[in-house]
Amino acid sequence: MVPSKKLVNNTNNTTSSITDNFEISNLANLDGYQQYQTYKLNSPNVIFNGLSSKDIVLVIAHPDDEAVFFTPTILELGKINYQNNLHLVCLSNGDFDKLGRTREWELQKSARLLGFSNYKVLEYEDNPNLQWDGESIGSDLEKILFDEWRLSSNDTVMLSFDEFGVSSHANHKSTHFAVKQFSAKHGIKMFKLITWPIWNKFSLFFLTNLELIWKYAKYLFGITHDVQFSIGQFKYSDHSFIIYNDFNNWFVSLSTMTYAHYSQLVWFRFFWIFISRYMNANELELVA
Ligand SMILES: [Zn+2]
Repeated sequence: MVPSKKLVNNTNNTTSSITDNFEISNLANLDGYQQYQTYKLNSPNVIFNGLSSKDIVLVIAHPDDEAVFFTPTILELGKINYQNNLHLVCLSNGDFDKLGRTREWELQKSARLLGFSNYKVLEYEDNPNLQWDGESIGSDLEKILFDEWRLSSNDTVMLSFDEFGVSSHANHKSTHFAVKQFSAKHGIKMFKLITWPIWNKFSLFFLTNLELIWKYAKYLFGITHDVQFSIGQFKYSDHSFIIYNDFNNWFVSLSTMTYAHYSQLVWFRFFWIFISRYMNANELELVA
């Protein structure tokens, strides 16, 4: 495991609050590698939701879930200015079509491409009709996170599906409930990926671009954040926030499918990677 590089020393309260303010003001002005004022798309949301200087653990059900659903978040949180370490747990090797070994190897390539420090593949059965046992997954996560990777609950943030699992796959839904149960038990923050309705899910760049144009327009014309606009953001929760892929990272998102998950590139996957909004934006919500 790569040791965590923490920006903030939480053991000294006085120093840490000064440091916190300093770091937050600096980090909030940076959006990944882009330092332009107009490019503050994600960093305020990342910083103010406590997603910097953390061990971020993404839990997925199958190899390629990280690529088809979560890349905007992974690529943003992995940018160097946030000082996060990324970790990946995949609960099955995706053996439904008897390609489990190949898909494990592909996940390794994807994990390296996306900048995960650690990754682990477990052996739950890949089956769209199967609900997985949350208790069993919880005890596996305890062994991996705490015994093997030596993560601490305080510095860890979990990330996974929501209760609808984006595609309603039973394994995705089981993953959500297991991670939720595990996070609650250990007092760990968990963010879930909001499942969008079909018209939003397959909007390509259209809805994302409307949101971004509105953001830029507000900046250019000096419109304050208090002014509400009906297409401000196509969100599904009052408590959620959106992380956008920048243009560079969109290519990385495509590459994780076209290069790393080669065995999964059947024709309809091309359909997905070009028109799915999950390739250019993610809506996240803190699980209470
Ligand atoms: Zn899946």
